[in-house]
Amino acid sequence: MTVVADVLPIDEALAQYDPVMGLEVHVELNTKSKMFCGCPTEFGAPPNTQTCPVCLGLPGALPVVNARAVESAIKIGLALNCEIAEWCRFARKNYFYPDMPKNFQTSQYDEPIAFNGWTEVTIPSGDGETETYRIEIERAHMEEDTGKSTHVGGATGRIHGASHSLVDYNRAGIPLIEIVTKTIEVPPAKAAAVARAYVSMLRDLLLALDVSDVRMDQGSLRCDANVSLKPHGSSALGTRTETKNVNSFRSVERAITYEITRQAAILSTGGKILQETRHWHEDTGITTSGREKSDADDYRYFPEPDLVPVAPAREWVEEIRATLPEAPPVRRARLQTEWGFTDLEMRDVINGGALELIVKTVELGVDASAAKKWWLGELARAANESAKELGDLGVGPEEVAEVQKLVDEGALNDKLARQVFDGLVKGEGTPAEIIEARGLALVSDDSALSEAVDRAIAANPDVVEKVQSGKPAAAGALIGAVMKDMRGQADAAKVRELVNSKLGI
Ligand code: ADP
Ligand code: MG
Ligand code: ZN
Repeated sequence: MTVVADVLPIDEALAQYDPVMGLEVHVELNTKSKMFCGCPTEFGAPPNTQTCPVCLGLPGALPVVNARAVESAIKIGLALNCEIAEWCRFARKNYFYPDMPKNFQTSQYDEPIAFNGWTEVTIPSGDGETETYRIEIERAHMEEDTGKSTHVGGATGRIHGASHSLVDYNRAGIPLIEIVTKTIEVPPAKAAAVARAYVSMLRDLLLALDVSDVRMDQGSLRCDANVSLKPHGSSALGTRTETKNVNSFRSVERAITYEITRQAAILSTGGKILQETRHWHEDTGITTSGREKSDADDYRYFPEPDLVPVAPAREWVEEIRATLPEAPPVRRARLQTEWGFTDLEMRDVINGGALELIVKTVELGVDASAAKKWWLGELARAANESAKELGDLGVGPEEVAEVQKLVDEGALNDKLARQVFDGLVKGEGTPAEIIEARGLALVSDDSALSEAVDRAIAANPDVVEKVQSGKPAAAGALIGAVMKDMRGQADAAKVRELVNSKLGI
């Protein structure tokens, strides 16, 4: 029996083939001005308002390298344990495309500013433990972003079927760093998770370095995922595809998994993989063919004659090294001590993607365990249910701090706070508005509480008798009855106090 299928189930694919990956990550730097001119870089300005003769490629305009961008590139290189070139040049990568007004992109080719590095990523191993994998970095080089085309009039937003195209050059010339890994080979079942963890780790690192906004949703962090398969035990690399612009951590994992299943289906029926770029479709969870791409694509690279070489003085490189924030593992160990978390708790925090969120929440004055409780409890559950990243829920450290403050002040208990978070996730407004609209305020009115306690005592004479015959633990039933009476909106400690004093215990 032959089964013709577009994809082979992932387990069957991994039973026959080992995936090999290579990740190319583009990072837009957060410099105030562009890579080779003084134009501003702010996101969201009206189209073509942030341009000049240099970034529009007008004849005679001369570029000048942005020193801050070079500094950021060195920072990134050092943080990825790279060697920093003593001397390197920019190169022209020639191709015609309307979003590239110069008809070439100023990039780096065989002389990248940073090369031969490594980093590590940690992923959950499934049994509550974690595993760490080393990723080799091939290079990190400087280049400039292209403009942005919008194809209008078609159904898909792609150029095919469009009636006309619009182009916005505000993005043309924004400094980019492209970070390229060497081929990554990890246990097959871990490949997609390692890729996701790598991109997520890079985001944290770049944030800590303060060199980029690293917003995947705004395109300031973009990932192209190269994937190939080889039969178990084979050492020769298979033909790769390059899936472009995958725009969330989760999509990195999904796109790679999909490519593994698609390529396995082709290879297992004797077919050949076409070396090409592919597009990821977030909605359907598949990739489709882009353009064929050979290793010999001729961009006619040559050294950029209008720019002087970049030769960062060793003293400057060492000065930059001295400003690097502590390495992520060192920082994690320090935070764990400061927060008083056990190894297991810390692992849950990291695996849950909550580390940076808890850091920010604690900075706003919240106790670390309270911050952990909300991020890993209520909010993690909501993220899970809506298949979102914890950081994209629309609830930030500020809201968590606000809710916790109300808990600390006795205006909310944990149960009510959970409902406030539910409202926040559903976009019902600010905590105050949600408390008002849902009627969540804790009853702190002593006379109302006192009456509720009296009612509970009157309704449960058997419990009262037990308590008074020397079984104080039985009073729990009275507290429960009061809480029920108050629909959970009472401070349990206060109720206990009242019950105890009324029964003389
Ligand atoms: P390109 O010009 O195609 O963008 P790059 O050198 O920038 O080439 O990036 C290629 C990426 O693909 C690197 O991360 C590299 O390690 C990876 N790669 C190369 N060959 C393979 C392969 N056979 N399978 C998977 N990844 C590969
Ligand atoms: Mg590339
Ligand atoms: Zn400009």
